[in-house]
Amino acid sequence: MTSPIDKTLVIATHNPGKLAEMQDLLLPYGIATVSARDLGLAEPEETGASFIENARIKAEAAAMASHLCALADDSGLCVDALGGAPGIHSARWASESRDFGAAMRKVEAALRAAGAEPPFRARFSCVLALAYPDRETAIFEGDVFGILVFPPRGTQGFGYDPIFLPDGFTRTFGEMSAAEKHGIPADGSEGLSHRARAFQALARSCLDRSCLDRSSASHT
Ligand code: IMP
Repeated sequence: MTSPIDKTLVIATHNPGKLAEMQDLLLPYGIATVSARDLGLAEPEETGASFIENARIKAEAAAMASHLCALADDSGLCVDALGGAPGIHSARWASESRDFGAAMRKVEAALRAAGAEPPFRARFSCVLALAYPDRETAIFEGDVFGILVFPPRGTQGFGYDPIFLPDGFTRTFGEMSAAEKHGIPADGSEGLSHRARAFQALARSCLDRSCLDRSSASHT
């Protein structure tokens, strides 16, 4: 199978944390990337009612404006005891100033107000939309399940990473290196983060298999 992405791929995000993770995840495939911000593309309004709708809006806007393939990620933290909130509003809970310390305190306060008891079950979800200038957009999804811990732990990663403890681990995403959080194992087994898992689905479907083989070989 050869990759349908034969030119530069636009990474349709203005979020530096996501951009860094997406570029890292694409590195083994040898695909040239440019960010929507570097192209000076406007950030479309996320008016969708789901991760899928918002990822599609961002990817299709970038593909249409650039005439290139564009990859967008819509993702967020969904907390069981809060009925899935903040969900698609995860970025907005941090307000315009992107204050995730405040957003994490808001999650804790909402859990207390709801009378929830630990363990606070939650998941991170990621939807990737790959939009082409001339064909139907493809959608890939990944989730990681765990619990929320307070106070936040660790300074790595971004967003809600310091309060998310993935199932089976003793360290939060905020305490993990980037490679541990979103690295894709060389043996082809499942990656840890929601974004890594969505990328594996994308890679299985559309990225060049020989590139995949090369990336495994380079890790052994
Ligand atoms: P959006 O997809 O641009 O609407 O923003 C998603 C928001 O979800 C981010 O700003 C973060 O707050 C949160 N989020 C998504 N993925 C992660 C992650 O891997 N770690 C921590 N927070 C995340």
